[in-house]
This record gives sequence, structure tokens and C-alpha cells, in this order.
Amino acid sequence: ADAGVPGRVRVAVRLRPRNGEEMIADADFADCVELQPELKRLKLRKNNWDTDTFEFDEVLTEYASQKRVYEVVAKPVVEGVLDGYNGTIMAYGQTGTGKTYTLGQLGEEDVADRGIMVRAMEDILAEVSLETDSISVSYMQLYMETVQDLLDPSNDNIAIVEDPKSGDVSLPGATLVEIRDQQSFLELLQLGEAHRFAANTKLNTESSRSHAILMVNVRRSLKSSESNGNSHMNKSLKPPVVRKGKLVVVDLAGSERINKSGSEGHTLEEAKSINLSLSALGKCINALAENSSHVPFRDSKLTRLLRDSFGGTARTSLVITIGPSPRHRGETTSTIMFGQRAM
Ligand code: ADP
Ligand code: MG
Repeated sequence: ADAGVPGRVRVAVRLRPRNGEEMIADADFADCVELQPELKRLKLRKNNWDTDTFEFDEVLTEYASQKRVYEVVAKPVVEGVLDGYNGTIMAYGQTGTGKTYTLGQLGEEDVADRGIMVRAMEDILAEVSLETDSISVSYMQLYMETVQDLLDPSNDNIAIVEDPKSGDVSLPGATLVEIRDQQSFLELLQLGEAHRFAANTKLNTESSRSHAILMVNVRRSLKSSESNGNSHMNKSLKPPVVRKGKLVVVDLAGSERINKSGSEGHTLEEAKSINLSLSALGKCINALAENSSHVPFRDSKLTRLLRDSFGGTARTSLVITIGPSPRHRGETTSTIMFGQRAM
């Protein structure tokens, strides 16, 4: 459960505070979970006298700040990317529990609200030298097994290409934007969000029915003195050492089970597609946790896309988000079970 250990997926659980509606509707009821952050434990209330206890790598209460969540969930992954390793940060949970708040919040009114994407870019910009290094970003939506470019709405079916030798995954059709400062990154995220809303209106769907995927490629040319201790060697004879790391941030589709008997046509197809990708993700997480030699990445586009940034030398962090309401105990239980598969 060490923050920096590659291989398995690190799992944090984050509880959203009660919202206004829940403060009224659930006023007479306790939260469906009780957190013991110092013990990294979560107690799920089964009824008035019985609880089930679960352990996670981190337990983040409703009082955890965005800064703390960044440090616990994302910072070790971002540090790996700066060192030339790939990494993935994902949020999984029922719609309305705080996935987008955790990952994508821009913090335009209060910088303390900024989420993981913005804080990660801030750390990357602080560390790299734009004279020798480059940061480039793609932003996509994965909907019904189709990858759509959120930076170019006309680009609505991007292919995922795997290099058979290196195993590297690339999306040659996706728009790649060079980032030089935080302002241009914030504008890119806003533009992507606007395009996402427009695309989903056209497709007659909600953002919660698709996965949003941000990819940040960091390419660094290190001076030889930074890469090793052979300072006595003539530096002009040494080729520059290039380190490439890729950070993938995934705001997953809502995990809620759509009532299949009540849905038909389009909604049913959406539900099947979400179930396919989330269960494929769960199987990969499970395979890594069990140190299995076969990780079934090929089963969905989501897992194919994550193949080179997940397990192996990559660092992977999953934050599962839950709400406090006892009315959603069923969904909260299934979210907790998903997170437990990685432990
Ligand atoms: P999701 O992306 O999982 O559907 P959101 O991130 O949109 O959920 O969160 C739903 C609402 O709850 C939003 O209004 C968001 O600002 C708020 N919210 C979520 N998590 C927190 C939190 N930890 N603290 C304060 N507000 C939160
Ligand atoms: Mg969301």
C-alpha cells in the first residue's frame, strides 16, 4: 500500500458532504457510512445495529480538502510521470458523488477548489523547463465504444493504435495541444467541456453516460548531469537523455445500475456499453491485484486505451466517490465492492 509502488492499483475512497436536499430529506437518519480515516477504514451501515468494515489505501472524509485529495491520490502518479513513467488517475462512482469535482473542478471562484487535473498541470509546469521540454495534451470522450475528440468536434471516431513491440498506445487522430502555461490549459479544459456538452446534446445523452479522458504527455530532455553522476565525461559527446511520461486522467461514466427492465433502445444500449467498459476495467484491476499474468486489456476500448498506463511500471490511482445518503446504500455498496476488488 505504498504510495509510490508501481504494479497494483492504489485505492482511495472519498465521501461527499451532504448536499442541501440530503440535509433536509435525511435529517433524521445517519449517513450510510462511518469513516475512520486514521485507521484507513470505512464502516458501511447495514442496519441500525450492524456494520461491515472495509479497508482502503486512503479514506478521505467529507472534510478532506481538494489539496489533500490531490496529495494523496494524484501526486505520486504525477511525480512518476515527471520521472518518465506513465500513470493513470481514475474516479469511479455513482453520478452526483463528486467524480468531476475531484478531478475536473477548475476553481475559477476559489483556487482552493481546484481539482486534480489543474493541480497536476501546475506541478508539471513548475517542474519542467519549457526551453528543452514539452507538454502536450489531448482531451477525449469515450461514448458507446467510440472515442470522440473534445478539442475538435468534427473528429468523432478516433482509432486507438497499439505498437505491437513496445506496447505503447497512441491516438494518432486526436488533437494534441502544446501547453505553455496554466491559463492555456484552463481554456483548453473549458473548450473541451463546451464541446462535450454540445456533442452530448446532439447525441441526446448526458455527460454521466460517457468517460472523459485527459492525456498529458510530458517529454523532458535532461542534461547528462541530471540523468547520472558521470560528470567527468565530456557532455558534448553524450546524446541528450529523453524522458517521456504520460498521465491519463479518467472521469468515468456514472456507475449506477440502470434499471434494464425499465429502459429500452438507446438507453439500454448505453447501459450495456457502460457496463462493458466498467466491468472490463474491474477485471483488469482485479488481475493486477492478484498478480495475474493475464490482464484482459483487450475487452473494451477503455482498457485498451489504458494499457500502457496501467500496471507494470505505471502508477495507478483510483478514487471511488460515494455519497452519505442512506437512500443510496445499494449504489454505495456496489461502489465500495468495486474498490475492494483492487485491494
Ligand atoms: P459526479 O461527477 O460524480 O456526477 P459532481 O462532481 O458533479 O459528481 O458532484 C455533484 C455535486 O456535488 C456538485 O455540485 C459538486 O460541486 C458537489 N460536490 C461533490 N463533491 C464535493 C465535495 N467533496 N465537497 C463539496 N462539494 C462537492
Ligand atoms: Mg461528473
